[in-house]
Amino acid sequence: MKITVIGTGYVGLVSGACFADVGNDVLCLDVDPAKIQILEDGGIPIYEPGLQEMVKRNVAAGRLHFTTDVEKAAHFGTVQFIAVGTPPDEDGSADMKYVIAAARNIGKYMTDYKVVVDKSTVPVGTADRVKAAIADELAKRGVTTPFSVVSNPEFLKEGAAIDDFMRPDRIVVGCEDEQAALNMRALYAPIQRNHDRLIVMDIRSAELTKYAANAMLATRISFMNELANLAEKLGADIENVRKGIGSDPRIGYDFLYAGAGYGGSCFPKDVQALVKTAQDDADIHLQVLTAVEAANDAQKRVLGRKVIKRFGPDLKGKHFALWGLAFKANTDDMRKATSRDVIQDLLDAGATVTAYDPVAMKESKHCFPDEPRLSYAENQTAALEGADALIIVTEWREFRSPDFDTIKTKLKQPVIFDGRNLYDPKLVRSMGIEYQAIGR
Ligand code: NAD
Repeated sequence: MKITVIGTGYVGLVSGACFADVGNDVLCLDVDPAKIQILEDGGIPIYEPGLQEMVKRNVAAGRLHFTTDVEKAAHFGTVQFIAVGTPPDEDGSADMKYVIAAARNIGKYMTDYKVVVDKSTVPVGTADRVKAAIADELAKRGVTTPFSVVSNPEFLKEGAAIDDFMRPDRIVVGCEDEQAALNMRALYAPIQRNHDRLIVMDIRSAELTKYAANAMLATRISFMNELANLAEKLGADIENVRKGIGSDPRIGYDFLYAGAGYGGSCFPKDVQALVKTAQDDADIHLQVLTAVEAANDAQKRVLGRKVIKRFGPDLKGKHFALWGLAFKANTDDMRKATSRDVIQDLLDAGATVTAYDPVAMKESKHCFPDEPRLSYAENQTAALEGADALIIVTEWREFRSPDFDTIKTKLKQPVIFDGRNLYDPKLVRSMGIEYQAIGR
């Protein structure tokens, strides 16, 4: 099948590469010429395990192409995936300008039947807006070319994106006509495992499903974080509590870890957007999700607060080692990352910081441009040099079994603030290291 993917970010590039990998002919469009240049030079503009090799393989096979040419992209694919960003607007609602611009570009140039697929996370009612934008462009040209609009939200996780895309738990398709449903079934047939994972539903339900999934996951995190704060005060260990409740199949172990707050490009913006849509479009105040968001905002300051409690409010002259900048392991994404709040809290209190992250240090330099009090180390051990304490923000695998003797020798004071509960408190404390984790 011929497919156009609009937007070559985490979702667009992964989708494009995976669809090419199962034999489709894919053209990826981006308005950012720098990204397309990197792709044409054989690189990839993001870090995602396995993606570079997959892109290379499919470019070499002639199945994956890149362009900034909007007209060419509109002509190319029978299926046109919109996978552009939907960042938060100033008021918290999802900014639809990139989605609508992409839809208009399709309408401006299409000359035959197209299935236009919203893969971006978009508020309920967006498919109608996409339909109207395309119809408007066709009307301007005085043509009536047929098209279908489909909602196909994406559930992949950064860091495991290829596996998630190739072995999805479910594929949600919101669709209101047979032709489009047939196309979507054919497209996803090669990546469904042993049984049909395609759930076809009405468009509005599909649009809401994506927000509901992210909101549910964010709720679990905020719930566990709140209990962790309580456990800490009451002398309980949230890790034991987690095991105790996770064993109930109605609760389950997945996604039940306490930590220093959720970040990333999705949970914060999607929870906010859902609250906003509910208020504006349905006059409903979503109380649970409003609390989830507030609890998370507070949780992102917990590490900073612990440091200040331990070292005092004036951190001038104090220096900290920070392990992990990405919002989670296996990605370079720092959108809404907790590390940004932690670093800012430390800098605001007068401290200096040396950070180490296996892949996100380049991104961090964009987030904190010209910040002389934030430096970067070549590896995790070098980051410890001259530091008063170590702060762990991201759960990278290489941080899981460190040499505690080295940590103890290098730090001026043997203190670890662990925002991801990576270690056994008894073990760390038995080595003479003060260990402050979350809820333990
Ligand atoms: P991203 O910011 O990494 O990429 C978006 C890309 O779209 C950028 O490269 C941008 O230049 C390009 N773009 C913007 N307008 C364009 C246009 N008119 N034509 C062509 N290209 C255009 O975003 P992302 O993280 O891939 O997310 C995309 C969407 O998918 C969002 O709605 C997001 O909520 C959703 N989503 C993201 C994830 C994730 O883990 N990142 C997972 C599921 C769903």
